[in-house]
This record gives sequence, structure tokens and C-alpha cells, in this order.
Amino acid sequence: MTFKLFAAVIPDRLINKPLDYGVPDSIISKIKAGSRVSITIRGNECKGTVLTLSETSKIYKIEPILEVLSEDCLSEDLFKLISWMSSYYCTSINKSLLSVLPSSIKKNFKEQRQLLIEKNVTQLKLITYCEEIRSKYPKQAKVLDIILINTNGILLTELLQKNQITKGPVKTLIENKILKSKKVQVNNNSIENEEFFQTKPKILSGEQQNTLQEIDKSISSNLFETHLIHGITGSGKTEIYLQAISKALSFGKGVIMLVPEISLTMQTIEQLKSRLQTKIAILHHKLSDRERFDTWHKIRKKEIQVVIGARSAIFSPVPNLGLIIVDEEHENSYKQSDEAPCYHARDIAVMRGKITSSTVILGSATPSIESYFNAKNGKYKLHTLTHRPINVTRPKVEIVDMKDEMKKNGGFTLFSDILLQKIKKRIEDGEQTLLFLNRRGYYTCQVCSSCFKTQKCHHCDTSLTYHKSENILSCHICSFTLKPPIEKCINCGAVETLKYRGPGTEQVERSLHSIFKDVKTLRIDRDTTKHKGSLDKIFKQFRSGKGDILIGTQMIAKGLHFPNVTLVGILNADSSLNIPDFRSDEHTFSLITQVAGRSGRGDLPGEVIIQSILPNHKVINLASNENYLEFFTMELKEREMFDYPPFSKLVKIIFSGKDCDKVKNYAEDFKNMLAAKLNGSFTFHNVIPCGYAKIKDNYRFQIMAKGIDVSLISQSIKSLQISKLSSVRVLIDVNPISTW
Ligand code: ADP
Ligand code: ZN
Repeated sequence: MTFKLFAAVIPDRLINKPLDYGVPDSIISKIKAGSRVSITIRGNECKGTVLTLSETSKIYKIEPILEVLSEDCLSEDLFKLISWMSSYYCTSINKSLLSVLPSSIKKNFKEQRQLLIEKNVTQLKLITYCEEIRSKYPKQAKVLDIILINTNGILLTELLQKNQITKGPVKTLIENKILKSKKVQVNNNSIENEEFFQTKPKILSGEQQNTLQEIDKSISSNLFETHLIHGITGSGKTEIYLQAISKALSFGKGVIMLVPEISLTMQTIEQLKSRLQTKIAILHHKLSDRERFDTWHKIRKKEIQVVIGARSAIFSPVPNLGLIIVDEEHENSYKQSDEAPCYHARDIAVMRGKITSSTVILGSATPSIESYFNAKNGKYKLHTLTHRPINVTRPKVEIVDMKDEMKKNGGFTLFSDILLQKIKKRIEDGEQTLLFLNRRGYYTCQVCSSCFKTQKCHHCDTSLTYHKSENILSCHICSFTLKPPIEKCINCGAVETLKYRGPGTEQVERSLHSIFKDVKTLRIDRDTTKHKGSLDKIFKQFRSGKGDILIGTQMIAKGLHFPNVTLVGILNADSSLNIPDFRSDEHTFSLITQVAGRSGRGDLPGEVIIQSILPNHKVINLASNENYLEFFTMELKEREMFDYPPFSKLVKIIFSGKDCDKVKNYAEDFKNMLAAKLNGSFTFHNVIPCGYAKIKDNYRFQIMAKGIDVSLISQSIKSLQISKLSSVRVLIDVNPISTW
């Protein structure tokens, strides 16, 4: 066969380079870059994505493309995004493609249709008929009993499963024209089927109004413009998002809204649903492949125009995209760090906005230093919301010196006296308390009193956490567990020297029960929210008053709105300050501000107690006043002094493998080669073990490069032809979240 056109195709089955195929004349008009096609590899049929088209091919014996699967074609804007990602984040087109096209799309699901069984006669006639046949055909009557209750029909599967009925009687009733069946598209997302009361747009405050006006201007003139909304907690950012979304929809444009995974709860979704009264696709990590597949296609076909989701929702195939919102833009969960490409969804959002001429909104009470810097420099438009529209009084914040409390107590204590008093008052008054501790488990480690070392996972470089309810020591990185009592120290072999240390959320909960009799507590951490729906359930319980105190890890820091919470306690405010990283101050500042912002969001004024052994620490004090501007100025100075982002760009390269020496040597060689290529335009730190020096039996080393031009270093890395050595894995992390 001869061809006029050739296509380089990336097969879905992971092969690292594209393969050439001939394009038969009959499909030339249908094929383009991004098309999904069906091809053969060694005689087996499979699917792939067209990377490029050209009029020549070097391949001598070439196979034809079998078919263009226009149904799931990647749009041009996503295709451009993939190319940009692969060069900026220094990964193959393949890997970028894999992030954009969820693996579920490549599976051979058919669009799901099910049979709906409905009555084919009037309700009255059905009742009469049912009684006529009851004694002679009891099984048919049983079916009709169910249909009589379900006046809008019932899915066949549901009818059969729940009611222990066989197909026979249903079939007979259809043949006798008493019932009928029709095929319907099934919605798996249960939320879609719920009705919500419609809420009206709120009358905006002056600040909100000004912000929205500028955003509306960008939307209506199809401008790529990035707006950063810096608004204190509770200042009504969400209201602005909602009105901006309505605006975009009124122009027939699609919308993507990114929220941290934790916010994908009923609380946020109810708010959107009740306001927008339109279908909304909700993308969270607990969706099944089937659900993801269905949603992807509905978005692509414009059946759904609003997408809300965590990180990867930024790749949704929304046609005619007009608005992208990144809520809590400072959130680290927007960054993918464990797998290539190590992209940041906020940066992708801005790039996608540029490619599609969309308006981008970034919002936060504590913007990332980078974003605020960009806004200050005029790259983004800055909007500031300085007050809460409904509750004018900010919560009253008090910092408690835990060193004093420990002296008073003659040793370690979880709670200060004042915090306990205030909790007691809340329980008596029927108001609610939120307690924050960034560690789960009962004890966070077990330390040997002879060698002072903690007991670590056998496979990872992490301390084992004790979980009292299950009575296990477990590794929070891999699933390794040990059952206590452990007699001997793993490190020095001493006997009976192991002591538990470091309280976690589980211990906080138990202690509260021993202090306050009959107190009702709820707990949110990764242990209590393993199952689908469990998080929503706990939130619902707390909101409806089924708990006096909610204890949680950083999962409870974000975006939650509990009107009856009037007290927030931060148990150990300095825990994240000790992490040796250039972002640890930023992280601590935003965490404290966000958690404190959960207090006093209803009619009642709120209070916040911050417990710390460093009560005079500048970061803790600035956070307690929600003084972002001063924090930003101070932090920026420090970043400039040490030439950290935003004044430079960092690239972290992680090497891992089972053989420690081999990994380390490889990293050294790599560093030398790369440094030589870059010829001084990037500086390199020494090869050091990663913060987690071992994970799942793989030793990990890193090099950190600092410079200005990311594309330059990306190109150089690519030209180094990264090891095909299967024993050393290399991961490139451009703009890493942390340096360790
Ligand atoms: P943020 O997202 O900035 O933390 P929210 O959007 O959740 O703040 O707003 C906090 C509270 O203020 C919500 O209960 C919201 O309904 C209310 N709110 C926001 N804007 C207005 C307004 N213009 N008028 C009255 N209430 C408002
Ligand atoms: Zn482990």
C-alpha cells in the first residue's frame, strides 16, 4: 500500500517512542494531531493518539491506520498544553499525554445505558390489573406492586437486585403491554440526582463588586488575564467565583474550577449546585474508571459545562473554555511530586488560560509567595478583600506559651488550662470546637531511651506511628505494620527501653474523653476517612450538632464552613516550623491562618487559641493577626537574600533504586555531566539523600539546581539521554514544593 500522509502515533500501551503509520486516503480528511486512532502492533489491534502528521516516513514497511476514533479526540488546546508540559517539565510527550488522558478513557467502556421499566397503562388500570392477577400470577403482581410505588419507573437492575425478582414476570408484563422498557443513560454521580433549593446571588460588597467587575470584563472580552484575589478567610471569595461562573455560562462558555481534594465535599458542591442550577461534573479521586469515563465524555460533548475537581481536573476536555478558577491557590496538593510530569495545576491553569484565551482566577487568604509576587509585578491583576461581609468581628486570637504550661504541669501536656476552660464553656453553651493537630495516630513514634533513636519502618526512612485502636505500629508511607509489644530496639538492641512519644489525633480524642465526661467527639484524619463517603458523613454529623468537638489534621484546615464553631484550638503551632525547608515559614503561616479562619463564621463571634513553644515567633504572630502583607514583605526579603524562588527557579532531580551505592554514583555522574553542559548558568548543590532517604526499599538521592531559565536546563537534561538503566529511576521535579 502507498500513502500520501503519515502519522506518528503514540500507542496507549506504554512504548516510549511514537510509531509511524500510513494514513489511508479515505481518512485523510478526518485525521489531525490529537486524533485517537486504532492501529495494529505486531498483529494486535490497539488504540493510540496521533502526535504529528507528515508527508514522508523513513519506515520502509509501513502499516496503515485502521480507523479514526473521532469520538474521543483530544482537542487542539489540550494538545498544545501537552507539548508545552513535556518541554517545561522535562518529560516525554507520552508521560504528559498520560496525565491529560485518564487511563479510564483508553479502556473499552461502552457508554452505559440501562433499561428503565415503566408502566404502559394508567395508574388506575395498573391497580385493577394487579389485583386481577394477584392470585394466579403472584410474581407478576409483586413486580407491579413495585412499579405502583415508583411512579417514574425503575431501572431493571434495581428492580431485580433489590426485590429478588426474576426477569420472567417482567418480560411477560412487557409482552402483555402492561409495562414498557426504554434505554436511558445512567448517572452514576448520585449528587446529580439530588434536588437543591435555588439560592439567589448575594448583593456584593463594594470590594466584591469591584473585583467581579474586572473579572467580568475579561470574560466578556475573551481575554487571557489572570486575577489574583487575596481575600481574608470568610471575605466572600466563593460568592465572586459563583457570579463569575454564571457570567461565563451566560456567554455559553465552559468553566473549570479547581479546589483541594478535601473541599470536594457536599458543602462546596451543594453551594454550586444550588446556585447554578446546571449540571456539574465532579471529579475526585474516588471516582471509578467507569464514572470517570462517562464524565469525561459528557464534558467533551458539552452535556456538562462546569467541571469542579482536584488537581487533574485542569485537564478536562471542556470545549469553548472561558473561565478557570483555582481556589486556595497556595495549596500544595495542586503539585504532583511523585510522578512525571511534576506539574503544578495552578501553573497549568494559567498556561491553559493563555492557550484558550480564558480568564483565570486564583484565590486565597494566603497566596503563595510566587503568585503574590506576580500580582505585585503586574503579571496578574491583584484584588484585595479586607473584610468579612456578614461577620464584621474577626475572631479573637490568643497565643499560649506551652513551655509555661509544661512547667505548671510538671511535664508534657496536650492542652493548656485556658484551652480546656474554653472548651468546657463551649460544651456547656452548646457551641462547637475545632481542634487541630497535624499528626494522626496515637503516638507518632517510639523512641529508645538508650540510643535515643526512633523505631523506623523496615522499608522506609520514616518513624512508625502507634495506632491504639488497632494496636499496631504502622508506616505512613508503605503499608508495613508491626504488632507491639516490641521487646528490643531495632537500632541498638537494648531491651525494654522503648518509650512512646509524640501525640497524634487519636490520643487527643481519647484524652478529651477522659477530661470531659460524655463529650461527643468526631475525628477527621486519613484513618477515619478511608472509605468513600465517610468524610461527608462526619461533616454532616458535625454540622447537625452530633459532636461537640471536631479533631483533625490539616484536612480540616481548608474552606470548611461551620457556623456553630466559635472556638478553634491549634495544639502545636510550631510543628511545621522545624522542617528544614525554604517554604516552611510560608507553609506554617498559611496553615495557622487557614485553621484560625474556621472560627466565628456564623452569627456568634469566634475565638482562637494557638498553643506553641515559640510564642514569640514572628510567623506565628503575623498569622495570628492574619497580617499577610507584612509576612509577604518579610518572606520576600529572605528569599531574595538567599536567592530562592521567586528570584530563581529550582529543579530537583531525584534518583532512586535498590542499590544505594549505584544510585549515589549515578547521581554524581549525572550532576557532573549536567553541570558541564550548563556551563555555569545553573548552580548545583551536592548530591544528598532525599528527606525520605528510603521509600519501599528504594534508596533515594537528589541534586538541586538553581538558575533562571527552566527551558534551558530541561533541554540539557533531555539531551543527556536519561539512563535506560532500569536499576536507577530518575525523576525531574521542576519548581519543587520542597527542597528535601
Ligand atoms: P471565603 O471563600 O472568602 O472564605 P465565603 O465565600 O465562604 O468566604 O463567604 C463567607 C460567608 O459570607 C458565606 O456564608 C457567604 O455566604 C457569605 N457572603 C459572602 N458574600 C456575601 C455578601 N455579599 N453578602 C452577604 N453574605 C455574603
Ligand atoms: Zn514503610
